[in-house]
Formats: sequence, structure tokens, C-alpha cells
Amino acid sequence: MNSAKQVVGGIDAGGTTFKCGVADESGTIIEKLRVPVTTPEETLQGCSDFFKAAARETPLRKLGIASFGPIDVDPTSEAYGTILTTPKPKWSGTNLKTHFDGSLDIQTVIDTDVNGALLAELTFGAAKVAGSAAYITIGTGIGAGLFANGGVLGRPSHPEFGHIPLRRHPEDRDFEGICPFHGDCLEGLASVTAMRARWGEPKLLHAEHGGWPIIAHYLAQACRVLTLTLKLDKIVLGGGLMLAPHLLKLVQKDYDHQMAGYLGEQAASGAQLIATPALGDDAGLIGALHLARQTSGS
Ligand code: ZN
Repeated sequence: MNSAKQVVGGIDAGGTTFKCGVADESGTIIEKLRVPVTTPEETLQGCSDFFKAAARETPLRKLGIASFGPIDVDPTSEAYGTILTTPKPKWSGTNLKTHFDGSLDIQTVIDTDVNGALLAELTFGAAKVAGSAAYITIGTGIGAGLFANGGVLGRPSHPEFGHIPLRRHPEDRDFEGICPFHGDCLEGLASVTAMRARWGEPKLLHAEHGGWPIIAHYLAQACRVLTLTLKLDKIVLGGGLMLAPHLLKLVQKDYDHQMAGYLGEQAASGAQLIATPALGDDAGLIGALHLARQTSGS
């Protein structure tokens, strides 16, 4: 077997779609397929069939999966690769690693979807020249991957940054928040679910709607916390909510206001520090493929 011709596989395992792809050693995606999330059996079988067909052309060296959570991502754990208790019907207890190790007869590497996106943005995207970075995804929930001092933080588990406490915006004192545990944590106040609970579907809100500066204020607080604890070079804000084109600027401006010049003129401004992802829809898949490529051995 000529190892120079081997390729790697990746899955961006999201809540509604598993995006599968095959890439060569340079990271160029050769082939991809979207498999809808239905039952674990059906979805995982659909992915395996794709990789088996691809492997007939060129042998698959390794599979990387960047998955929705909660998921066990500790390689030393017996449950490594198992989706933990999730509201998604039938998926709790599904072990992704066991399935693909068995059906494809290769080694599977698993991390969270945010860590996948973080590694992709660090390697190819918005955080390319950064030595340290965060990737925060703002969707139905909020999660973050953090990278500093040469590695992803929080291993073998992962951070729960979406649940940090915040100070209330003066015009948002009555809303209880949607987090079943904390009420008004970051996720409880600034996720898509939290926006929907107050103002309806975010996609339908006009750019001048009064909800946007409130959400921007909370996201800017989150960035401020990251700066004051970790002094990161770059903070990438991704996820469905950041597709609203006016939101990034509001966050950057509110961040500058909150920092109030505390770190002096050398410190990065909101516009320099905070960005949206550069890799678009393929970020998760690129991250998953990168997980497979960066793991040594074969
Ligand atoms: Zn919470």
C-alpha cells in the first residue's frame, strides 16, 4: 500500500446534519456528502456507506469527528466517543467511535464541534496568525473552545463557557433567562433560544430592533471575561446568530466601551480582537479532517 496516496475522513456531526468528507494529506477536500440526522442507526450507516465507497478508490487512513455534545472526548475513558444525555431522541448513549472503528476498520479521533471549528479557524481561517484563540458558537445553545499555550484547554473534558454569569443589561431586567440550571447565564440570555423567547425568530428581526444591542452587550461581556482571564489573540464568534451581518460591529463597539481603555493603547481593540469565522459552512468539516490529519500514527 502506498501511504503517500492515503486520505483521511472527517465528519462534522451537527444536530441536524452529519457532513462527511474525504481529504488528501494537504487538507484539500476531494469528496463530501450530507447525511440528515434521523435515528443513530440510519445516520451512522449513511456515513459508513459513504466512507466505504470512498475507500475503494484510495485507502482511508483515519477518521476525525467533530461532534455535537454533550460527548465523552477523553481518549482514556471507556466511554470515549459516546454521546451523553441529550434531548435528541435515541441518541443518548450512542458511541460514534465504536461504530466507525468497527464498520470502517480504522482509528477514529473525536472532539467537540467547537474544538473542531476552533482548530480549523486557527489553521486556515480567522485566527490563522494567532497564538491563542477562542471559538464561541452562538446557536440554540452557546459553547466555546479555547486554545492557549499550544493546546486546547479543558481536556480531557471541555469548558462550559456558555454558562458563565453576566451582568444584566439595564433594559433586560425582567426576562428570567432560558437556562434550566442558571436562568440568566450567557446561554440563558444571549442564545438564539433566549432571543426567540423574548422577541421571536432572530432571522426576522430588523437590524434596528432593540434586542440586538442587548445581545451584543452580553457577547461583549463574554469577550471581556476572556481577555481579562486569558489575554487571547483572537476571539471568533460563530454559530447561527452571527449570520446577522450587523451583530459583529455592535459586539466590537460594546467591548471597547466596557474595556474603557483599561489595558492601555497597545491592547487590541474590539475590531482587532473579535471576528466572525472565515471558513463558512465547511468550517466544522475542515476541523474534523484536521483532527484526523494532526493525529500521528496510522
Ligand atoms: Zn446556564
